[in-house]
Amino acid sequence: MDKISIITPCFNEFDSLPIFYSAIKEVTLHMKEQNFEFIFIDDGSKDNTLNIIKNFSEHDSRIKFISFSRNFGKESAMYAGLINATGDYIAFMDADMQDPPSLLPEMYRYISSGEYDSVATRRTTREGEPPIRSFFARMFYKIINKLSKSDIVDGARDFRLMNRKMVDAIISIGEYNRFSKGIFGWVGFRTKWLPYVNVKRAAGETKWSFWKLFLYSLEGIVAFTTAPLAIASIIGFLLCFLSLALLCVIVVKTLLWGDPVSGWPSMTCIILLIGGIQLFSIGILGQYLAKTYIETKKRPLFIVNEDNINVNKEK
Ligand code: UDP
Ligand code: MG
Repeated sequence: MDKISIITPCFNEFDSLPIFYSAIKEVTLHMKEQNFEFIFIDDGSKDNTLNIIKNFSEHDSRIKFISFSRNFGKESAMYAGLINATGDYIAFMDADMQDPPSLLPEMYRYISSGEYDSVATRRTTREGEPPIRSFFARMFYKIINKLSKSDIVDGARDFRLMNRKMVDAIISIGEYNRFSKGIFGWVGFRTKWLPYVNVKRAAGETKWSFWKLFLYSLEGIVAFTTAPLAIASIIGFLLCFLSLALLCVIVVKTLLWGDPVSGWPSMTCIILLIGGIQLFSIGILGQYLAKTYIETKKRPLFIVNEDNINVNKEK
């Protein structure tokens, strides 16, 4: 009998959890041939999320929970779920019903055929999202796919079902600055994509501010490509070349026609431009340095405040 682990990161999901739990319970009722394990990760919620999960777990021994000491972010929650999942197949599913649990039977059918190592989902629309956010999201995917060798699919959700082989590969990547959308592609394996129409949040509101998303996208770029460093050096090289050529022109011009003092406004602009490019390049360098610095500290990805992982193991 196959065991499926479902990992759900929860951050202030008090309103959506009851809806999600009853939906997923309903789905499992129709999957009698499989065993289930639900792993809820309370990512330092400030509302009653942990209590409601504990409440569920009292009536359902399939529920495991891990509660973090503070908000460590969705990536840490996903990782905590992965290293504690014991299933043959493992799925991520958000608590807000934007990852429809009803897709699970179809996903399982594909993966259990042995033809695929993971079944991933991709939303075909971004309905219900602010247009400006969609615009930047699209731009991000365009840029990162141009810059990076790993395939990072536009509209891909973290909602996917994977086999043990793939999960072990993902766990083996122990880096601190995690960008799962890139890691999934980086580890390879055969993936089946299931497109579906975007679903609006069942309750509560998105936990990602524009700023949080922007930082996350920087994380993705820095984690999956060093191209910006190369671009900075190329721009530097081109500018050197250009300034040498201009220097020659100015020397010849001065020798032929003398040197009346003029053109200070254009000079100021050029100084500003070069200064700007220099700072921008140092900034790029700084991003990589900062990530390296954080990575070398080898801090844990999360700190557990409370869990029932071992309780259920002893049973
Ligand atoms: N989440 C989390 N930690 C965070 C932010 C979000 O565990 O710091 C969880 C959240 O509870 C939800 C999932 O990650 O189950 C996706 O978050 P959300 O729905 O806010 O993101 P969106 O769907 O808007 O991209
Ligand atoms: Mg959501």
